[in-house]
This record gives sequence, C-alpha cells and structure tokens, in this order.
Amino acid sequence: MLIEYIVGLSGLIAAGLFIYGLKAMSSPVTAVTGIMTAGYGMVIVIAAAFLNLFHVSPSAQPHLTVNITLAVIALVLGCVWAGRAGRKVQMTAMPQMVALFNGMGGGSAAALAADSLLANHPASGLHLSITIIGALIGSISLTGSVIAWAKLDGRINKPLRFTGQRIFNGLIFLAALVLGGLAVMNYGTPAGILPIILFFAAALVFGVCMTLPIGGADMPVVISLYNAFTGLAVGLEGYVTDDPALMIAGMVVGSAGTLLTVLMAKAMNRSLTNVLFSNFGDASGSSKGPEGEMKSVEPGDAATSMKYSSSVIIVPGYGLAVAQAQQKLFEFVKILMADGIDVKFAMHPVAGRMPGHMNVLLAEAGVPYDMIYDMDDINENFASTDVALIIGANDVVNPEALTDKSSPIYGMPILNAYKAHQVFVIKRGAGTGYSGVQNPLFFQENTTMVYGDAQGVLSKMVEAVKALGNA
Ligand code: NDP
Repeated sequence: MLIEYIVGLSGLIAAGLFIYGLKAMSSPVTAVTGIMTAGYGMVIVIAAAFLNLFHVSPSAQPHLTVNITLAVIALVLGCVWAGRAGRKVQMTAMPQMVALFNGMGGGSAAALAADSLLANHPASGLHLSITIIGALIGSISLTGSVIAWAKLDGRINKPLRFTGQRIFNGLIFLAALVLGGLAVMNYGTPAGILPIILFFAAALVFGVCMTLPIGGADMPVVISLYNAFTGLAVGLEGYVTDDPALMIAGMVVGSAGTLLTVLMAKAMNRSLTNVLFSNFGDASGSSKGPEGEMKSVEPGDAATSMKYSSSVIIVPGYGLAVAQAQQKLFEFVKILMADGIDVKFAMHPVAGRMPGHMNVLLAEAGVPYDMIYDMDDINENFASTDVALIIGANDVVNPEALTDKSSPIYGMPILNAYKAHQVFVIKRGAGTGYSGVQNPLFFQENTTMVYGDAQGVLSKMVEAVKALGNA
C-alpha cells in the first residue's frame, strides 16, 4: 500500500518537474535549469519503476530477478552511452544526436507494445487498439528518426525518389493497418502471432520509406514531427501499461513536439503535407543558378568599412557554429558598439542545424537578448541599414527563395540581407548551404565576400578595428 502510494506520488512530482522544466527551457536564461529539472523528474520516474517491481507479489512475477538484471544492464548501458555521447558531441552535430535519441524513445514505446502484445497483456479491446496505434507510431518514429539521423550526418546525401513512390508508400502503410487489424482480430490465439510480427515489419519499413524522399532542407520540420510522434507513442503506451508518469511525460513531449512542428512548418512557409509529400529541398531542381563573379576583400578592409558605418545587422548561420567563432564575433561587435554603431543580430528560425541553434550560440557568447531580433521584426530594417554582415549563413539569406519558382527552396522565408546598402559575407569559399543550391546574393553588386574560416576572419577584423583606435 505504501509503495503504491509512493509510486503514484512520484509520478505526480515527476510530471510537475517535467512541465516546469519545459517551461524553463523556453528561455535561454533558464534553459539549463529546465533541462536539469526535467532530468531530476526522469530519475524519480526510473526509481519509482524499480520500486514498483517490488510492489507486485513475486509469485505474479516469475522472472523478477531476470527482469531486474536486464533492466539494470539496460540502464547502465544507456547511461554510459548517452553520457559519453552527450559530453563528446559537437554543437553542430547536436541535431543528429537529437534524432537518434528521439528514435530510441519511439523504439522503446514500440518495444513496450510488442512485449504487451506477445505476452497478451492488453485486457480490453480499447487497450489492445491503443497498444497497436502506439506501436505503429513508435515504430515509424524509430526508423524515420534513424533515416533523419543518416541525412543530417551526411550519410545519405540525396533524397531517394522514384515514380509511383507515394502509391508504394501508401500501400505499405495500408498493409501495416490491415496487419494491425488482423493482430487485433486474432489476438490471444496462436494465429495472432504472425500478423503482429508482420505488422511491426510493415510499420518499421514505412518509417524508412516515408523519410527517404524528404529533402534535406525540410529536416527541421521532420525532426520535430518525429519528436511529436515519439511523445504520442510513449503517452499511449503509458496509458495501456497504467503508468501515469509515462503517460504525462509522453503527452508533454508529444504536445511540445506538435507545437514545434507547427512553428517550424510556419517558419519555412510550408504545410505539413507539403513537407511529407512534395520535393522541397531537393538540389536537383531545374534552377540554372546565378551567373557572374563574386568580388572579395580582405577582412581588415571589410572591418574598416564597418567601423565607419552607422548601422550593422549581423546574420549568423551554420558556419559560425562550425567555426565556434561566437566569442570573437561578440568581441568585434563590442568594439563597433563602443564607437556608437547600431548593431543588431537577425535570427532566422532555421539558421544552423537545429531549432534555436543560433540563439544558443549567441547566448554562450553573452550577447544580450535585446540585441537579437526575430526575422519578422528585423526584415524591414535591412533596407535602411549600412551593412549586413553574414557569417556562415547561406540558405537563410538566399533571395532565390523569394523569386525563383523552379528553385528547390522557393517559398522559404528569408532574412532580407540583400536589401542592405553593403553586404559582407564571411565564408570559406564557394560552398553551397544545406539545401545544395547556389546563392545569387553572393553575385550581387552590393555584395563582397570575405573568404576564410569565420574564426580566422573575425580575429583579423578585431585586430584591424583595434589598430584603428576609437573613431
Ligand atoms: P547553410 O547550411 O545554408 O550554409 C552554411 C554556410 O556556412 C555554407 O555555405 C558554408 O560555406 C559556410 N561555412 C561552413 N563552415 C564555415 C566556417 N568554418 N567558416 C565560415 N563559413 C563556413 O546555413 P544556414 O544557417 O544559412 O541555413 C541552415 C540550413 O540548414 C537551412 O537550409 C535549414 O533548412 C537547414 N537545417 C536546419 C535545421 C534547423 O533546425 N535549424 C535542421 C536541419 C537542417 P563554405 O563551405 O564556402 O564555407
């Protein structure tokens, strides 16, 4: 009785910690506290799960010792692997890791469902149907996330598409639904085992097939969608296994993931059906690409002209994260501000490789939040700004997205850096961005390239403005 009470209470406490943690994560100032708080919630839930094992009488659990041993082994393996991966991962590789961890969540929900189904746990038709739905969503999230990881990690470079693919995918999904139905109808009988196995196979294959044709530039939306899927699957399995903590944690992740998916899709000016069923982000579009020459200057010259300007908008992108040049950048900005120059940072919602990537980077360097502007709030300012300084950004400032209907990124909102009086672009060479398309902005009359690694270029810029002294 006491154990039952403690387990129930711990679920409630954990739920409170999850919700508080999520709320705290919405601001960079409190994000670390939020993550720690949610982590404590997770520890409480795991401890309660072990405690719960002792609450059921040993005679009802003939494999108790084996189960506890397996659970401890899984826990140790998971903690060691996740701990090492979390410590070692580069900031730029974070999206891949999130995709993998997310897939693990979906896979765990599917495994829980498989165990329930094969051990004939679901007691009612409702429980059985919910177990099947959770298994379907969890399985799709598992394999879909693994493919998303492979794409983000550059292991799969091209979307895989073929004629009749939508019909093919539709048939696999239909097969999964029919097999799920057969599993329900034959549940508890020997004839029910094969449909369960084939149902899981079809759901797992569907996750792969659904993700393979999606273009790289749509990955932010896809990752958020699988995040929502995983949460939903975990929540459903929590309901079936009568585990309130699992249910609440799943629903929190599911609803946060759904909101993020909607926000990301809106930021990319895309509907979800478009993301899942069209060819956005495929670099094989018919766009010819810009023509002309790119001009370039030395970092010192670009820095000098910024020092004599009155307003600068900085557009950070993925290359800034690769170069880890955020501290140098802020050092440069502080020197400009000391001369009375109006400096602002412009944030594109999908700059970098994960939602909020650039915000985290700038927060790390100590950039005050009131200097950071969202796309909609700053886009009008570019036309009246002396200099737009683009650092390692490419797709998010590509004007082709506004004008060229044949472009694979057509329709994506951009930061209007091309409207500034003078545009400086720091990047290493002629490399394209994540979507693989060339950027006509770099060939514009008012654009000048400053070639080099962002860290090296910004160091030279700092030296140059320091050498000039106060204006
Ligand atoms: P991009 O990927 O479009 O461009 C980055 C640019 O940085 C490259 O053109 C590269 O050019 C340059 N670069 C790379 N390394 C360095 C370096 N060390 N120093 C200086 N420059 C460097 O980045 P954006 O931020 O503009 O756009 C993000 C893209 O990623 C979008 O297409 C978005 O859809 C996608 N995406 C976003 C996710 C998210 O959640 N935010 C998730 C997954 C994808 P060069 O090689 O010449 O140096």
